[in-house]
Amino acid sequence: MVKESGETIEGLTGPGCVDDRLKVHRHSFLEEAYRAFACDRQDPTRSADMKESEFSHLLKLIYYQRPISRTALSEQLDLSLGYVSLLVKRLQEDGFLVEGGFAESSGGRRRIHLQLNPELAHLVGVDFGTANIRVVVTDFLGKVLSFEKSPSATYRGKDSSLQLVCDQVNAYCKEDAAIRAIGVSHSGVINHEEGTVLFWPRVQGWERVPIKAILEQVCGKRTLVEDSSRTMALAEQQFGEGKGIKNLVHVSVGMGIGSAVFANGRLCLGHKGLAGELGHITIDEDGELCSCGNRGCLEVFASGSAMIEKVRSALRKGVISSLTAQEGSALTIESIVAAGRAGDRLSQNVISEAGTHLGTALADIVNLLNPQKIILGGAVPQVAQNLLMEPLMLSLRQRAFSHSVHDLEVVVSRLGEEASAVGAALLVAEKVLEEELRRKVDR
Ligand SMILES: [Zn+2]
Repeated sequence: MVKESGETIEGLTGPGCVDDRLKVHRHSFLEEAYRAFACDRQDPTRSADMKESEFSHLLKLIYYQRPISRTALSEQLDLSLGYVSLLVKRLQEDGFLVEGGFAESSGGRRRIHLQLNPELAHLVGVDFGTANIRVVVTDFLGKVLSFEKSPSATYRGKDSSLQLVCDQVNAYCKEDAAIRAIGVSHSGVINHEEGTVLFWPRVQGWERVPIKAILEQVCGKRTLVEDSSRTMALAEQQFGEGKGIKNLVHVSVGMGIGSAVFANGRLCLGHKGLAGELGHITIDEDGELCSCGNRGCLEVFASGSAMIEKVRSALRKGVISSLTAQEGSALTIESIVAAGRAGDRLSQNVISEAGTHLGTALADIVNLLNPQKIILGGAVPQVAQNLLMEPLMLSLRQRAFSHSVHDLEVVVSRLGEEASAVGAALLVAEKVLEEELRRKVDR
């Protein structure tokens, strides 16, 4: 046991145990964390804040690099394997860590994987979209335990939609006592510190909606709200195409368009957290009016709602199409894509034009940020991939610097429609981890 800084750790002295490196790293956060957690709870000179931050650091490393072996932890932290094993044992006893499977090995002993205990807590993720509300319950590592999708029916008014979400989430919280927190994915302009939707361009009357406060009051669980492009990107980073990519742009194209930019592994939030509004960059200064109040935004050229509106407009003008029978409200992205695949020229042209405009906008992004990878998420790329990608890539290659495009990867997300809700659930995992640590340390 560590007694005072600089003294030895009982049980770890002797050959093959603690080596000299431990003394070198006497003041490393691991040693300090171990002292705080295991041995030094009564020390009045150490603040509770320090203990939390140190343990938080250690567990977050395991959380974000999972699954990871003791050997890999030891190598990455430059600490002895014996010391790391002791820490791991302690965290296993306290229910934070579990072993799961074996790591690939080039020979010798197989390395056992470590990860955070998936049953540390359950989480709720809500994807609040213009067309649908998707709710997932996940374990602590984001594995989906249940999934529910229902129309958001925003046309019925704000109160009706919010009531629907509150009823669904509250039912899950009452049913599953392990649920600790709620993450909400929402499009529009979000104040994520307050958990308020400041402005949702495509939905009238949706201004200054305090979703965090409403859900916390109704469900009694900690709630965080974040932009839907960012929650999608979070899911991609943990489970999808974004794993291990430091310079990454995630572009979501649904009824609206948004983006999340990771530069050197860090999410760019912007001065007030409002970075990433790709849908509202100007493509044509004199273009059509956008729901945000400006003219000629990318959204009026390439979003799902723009594609539907362009088909409707053409049908009104008498353009011949297999979609004529669906001129009313039944038009959807899916029906336009299905018609396009079956040879309908109007649908093919509308999707192709959207792809060209998206490619133009992505070329600007590539020239500005030089990403390694662009992930296209949301309903439009997933449904219309075959018709959309060729014009998109053509336009992108024509307009971006060839050196930047040379080894750029542009891929369509392979995560399912629940990706944004899962990302929202993961959003709150870190906060729950901190709360759990505080509970254990204070105990
Ligand atoms: Zn706009």
